[in-house]
Amino acid sequence: MKTYNISVIKGDGIGPEIVDEAIKVLDAVSYNCGFSLEYKEYLMGGIAIDMTGVPLPDETVQGVLNSDACLFGAIGGEKWDTLPRELRPETGLLKFREAMGVYANLRPAIIYDELVNASTLKPEVIEGVDIMVVRELIGGIYFGQPRANDGFKAYNTMVYTKPEIERIGKTAFELAMKRDKRLCSVDKANVLEVSQLWRDTMEEIAKDYPEVKLSHMYVDNAAMQLVRNPKQFDVIVTGNIFGDILSDTASMVVGSIGLLPSASTGDKTAIYEPIHGSAPDIAGQGIANPIATIESAGMMLRYSFGEIEAADLIDGAIKKALKDGFRTKDLAAYDAKEVVTTSEMGDIIANNLRK
Ligand code: NAD
Repeated sequence: MKTYNISVIKGDGIGPEIVDEAIKVLDAVSYNCGFSLEYKEYLMGGIAIDMTGVPLPDETVQGVLNSDACLFGAIGGEKWDTLPRELRPETGLLKFREAMGVYANLRPAIIYDELVNASTLKPEVIEGVDIMVVRELIGGIYFGQPRANDGFKAYNTMVYTKPEIERIGKTAFELAMKRDKRLCSVDKANVLEVSQLWRDTMEEIAKDYPEVKLSHMYVDNAAMQLVRNPKQFDVIVTGNIFGDILSDTASMVVGSIGLLPSASTGDKTAIYEPIHGSAPDIAGQGIANPIATIESAGMMLRYSFGEIEAADLIDGAIKKALKDGFRTKDLAAYDAKEVVTTSEMGDIIANNLRK
């Protein structure tokens, strides 16, 4: 029997609650589909600071690099917010992504028919939305040097090299080829030199993909268009900070941030995680929505292991749970027949897989 080794980082806040539900679902689907999964847990974020003194222990980096893929919850919380920047959980996360070489962050935003009323947008605007945001993850302003804050003057640097743009561009074109062959590259080329290089490079790559229709959009317009008419988008490719903001906008198009999964892929390994944070305001209450993390686990099966049938089964089991009217508290107001806890939602989805 095929065995996949998964490194697991539960993290802080709701991280452990939602990751446990994803593992429950993975175990149910692997049993059905004839492969087995082995998990090994590693520390990161606030819990790693508390237990080891640093947000990203070396053992975590090595363990994840040696695994087939990583399932990640979320990190961070107020308790660690006052630490010096280099010791903060978020610094550990950026270092982690860099060490894993995961330059491409794929963030699908798909509307579940059962939840069209959960969005703040009108149903006719969002019905049928199926967007893939491809965000560059280990470059741009979050990593650029120099950076400093001396209490009077502070600055960061937005920098991209051509090879960095080429590799994320190729990922996006390849994805567009498997979808509706429409790619929108988002930048701020009217103001930023780095965006001009981005745009020129996308045009160059486009020559190798004549079937893909490439368009360009400024980020301010893209934010507006995502809310005005999200259906116009198929694949969006953009840099780190623009992708961060636009994918959160896309999350509201689909109704709840608790529904959006992500895959971060690169040359060494891949990390699968919900797009939301550790939600300290609801941690420990059993009300977090585990669906984004369960979907992320499904993306792991699809993209890292090629277990397409299993990934499709997970999608179907989530849809059935929603169709049957089960909702976690964040979606309680939208056609709920029964409001369930985090763990009950995991049980329902896992049971749908067993039927
Ligand atoms: P957040 O995403 O944690 O929460 C934003 C809001 O969405 C909150 O009201 C929260 O209750 C709600 N929410 C988030 N996930 C939910 C879920 N699964 N089900 C239901 N509701 C959910 O963002 P924040 O409050 O800005 O950040 C909290 C902490 O998370 C901070 O320390 C931040 O740095 C960290 N963070 C971590 C990651 C990560 O680990 N990848 C990403 C973003 C933020």
